[in-house]
Amino acid sequence: MVIIVGAGPIGLATAIELQRRNIPSKIIERGCLVNSIFNYPKDMTFFSTSERLEIGDVPFISHNSKPTRREALEYYRRAAESYDLDIHLYEEVQAINGEDNNFTVQTDKSSYEASKVVVSTGFYDVPKMMNVPGEELPKVKHYYDEAHAYAWQDVLIIGGGNSAVDAALETYRSHANVTLVVRKPHIKESVKYWVKPDIENRIKYEEIDAYFNSEVTQITPQEVTLKTPEGTKTISNDFVLAMTGYQPNFELMTQFNIALTNDAKRMPIYDEQTLETNRDGVYVAGVVCGGMDTSSLFIENTRIHAEHIANDVEDKLVIA
Ligand SMILES: Cc1cc2nc3c(=O)[nH]c(=O)nc-3n(C[C@H](O)[C@H](O)[C@H](O)COP(=O)(O)OP(=O)(O)OC[C@H]3O[C@@H](n4cnc5c(N)ncnc54)[C@H](O)[C@@H]3O)c2cc1C
Repeated sequence: MVIIVGAGPIGLATAIELQRRNIPSKIIERGCLVNSIFNYPKDMTFFSTSERLEIGDVPFISHNSKPTRREALEYYRRAAESYDLDIHLYEEVQAINGEDNNFTVQTDKSSYEASKVVVSTGFYDVPKMMNVPGEELPKVKHYYDEAHAYAWQDVLIIGGGNSAVDAALETYRSHANVTLVVRKPHIKESVKYWVKPDIENRIKYEEIDAYFNSEVTQITPQEVTLKTPEGTKTISNDFVLAMTGYQPNFELMTQFNIALTNDAKRMPIYDEQTLETNRDGVYVAGVVCGGMDTSSLFIENTRIHAEHIANDVEDKLVIA
């Protein structure tokens, strides 16, 4: 039995590849199926085309070339159902005890024996904090869901990537008074190519205020203070959407005895061919492999991990 921690796209893909080799697996997921995608902004469109998000050769047909969050939720439900995967939802893995071929995986509800463990926990559960006074106020959100709540409100959006730009455009079009604060001198090059001109034009025509080379220094219930190249500015504010990115749960990785690199990336240490970590019999899969570098690994370029891991498990599995 292989226990897979996390029912994201890559956890599902790994279970499918193991099944194809007649190796039983069980997925343990702390939330719902594909919990990260479920928590993306409600109206999000992927930057990948649908065939690049496919797993287990299940066709992903979407209405447009880039699928929506809702289509992806339906697709991954269908993929899990097609292979009749064994998935335990709303159960959190807390510890991996024991050793290779003889693990006990401890959850908040039960414990499971496993010969190998695959950790595919993603990076969407832990937001990168700004550590500024007022960040703990309830009006500050690190996850954006939909625009309606922000109509006729003064909304500050922090960040220059896809999440910040999508939130800025959607809230602006729902009658929010939007200010964008970006640390860098420009909007990120990686912003979806069909969206970038839109945000740049809204800024150019002063429909959205933007401060580049700037950052937030303080948040109070009715205002925010910004450090800009022109000096300190304090502006009226009702909501802050801090789209500052996310990071893997390093505490959990350390608790699993998975070693991390010493540099700023804090990547798990693993064999590039097999994805096995420093801890024998424990593998990493999916975007968690990138550590703090969350912008170079995606579904499209990590779904291959599933095959590599399944091949290695097949080679090594000792049938008890
Ligand atoms: C807004 C946004 C848009 C994106 N768009 C694209 C795109 O267009 N194309 C693309 O290829 N990629 C895209 N990505 C990146 C990629 O989709 C996601 O990061 C993807 O979900 C990664 O898949 P994963 O299986 O590695 O991890 P995840 O999907 O994050 O799955 C990890 C799962 O592990 C679970 N988990 C965590 N800890 C535990 C625990 N202790 N016990 C049990 N379960 C646990 C989580 O609840 C989660 O369901 C996007 C990311 C974001 C944030």
